Amino acid sequence: MTAPTTDCLFCRIVRGEIPAKKVYEDEHVFAFEDIHPQAPTHVLVIPKKHFSGLKEAQAEDAEIIGRCHLAAAEIARQRNIEQGYRTVLNVGPGAGQSVFHLHVHLLGGRHLSWPPG
Ligand code: 5GP
Ligand code: ZN
Repeated sequence: MTAPTTDCLFCRIVRGEIPAKKVYEDEHVFAFEDIHPQAPTHVLVIPKKHFSGLKEAQAEDAEIIGRCHLAAAEIARQRNIEQGYRTVLNVGPGAGQSVFHLHVHLLGGRHLSWPPG
């Protein structure tokens, strides 16, 4: 699904209908603090355009998915967490995806173990 939705939580955050702590915004990308942070830095980076997740992405979405990651890298640079951070896309309920608007988690500011749970 690519159309903006009235009931999508993250579309509503982009539109300012639900408050969020904005971290970054440009023409295509919006980033905000996760409401339940799992690390000192836990930012969600999302495309302004709605699509459900990575498995629903089309070839035309390649650029925006890249832009989200580049925005995450820029936020990490600004926060001085480049010693080690992680970008994560949870894909599907079995991997913990609970909001079906593609989002890149940016996690950092603490040691991150591998493999993740
Ligand atoms: P997922 O589990 O889908 O990979 O990630 C969804 C993330 O969205 C979770 O980390 C959760 O804490 C965050 N989240 C859920 N609802 C809200 C909200 O209303 N505001 C913000 N800022 N984050 C939210
Ligand atoms: Zn959405």
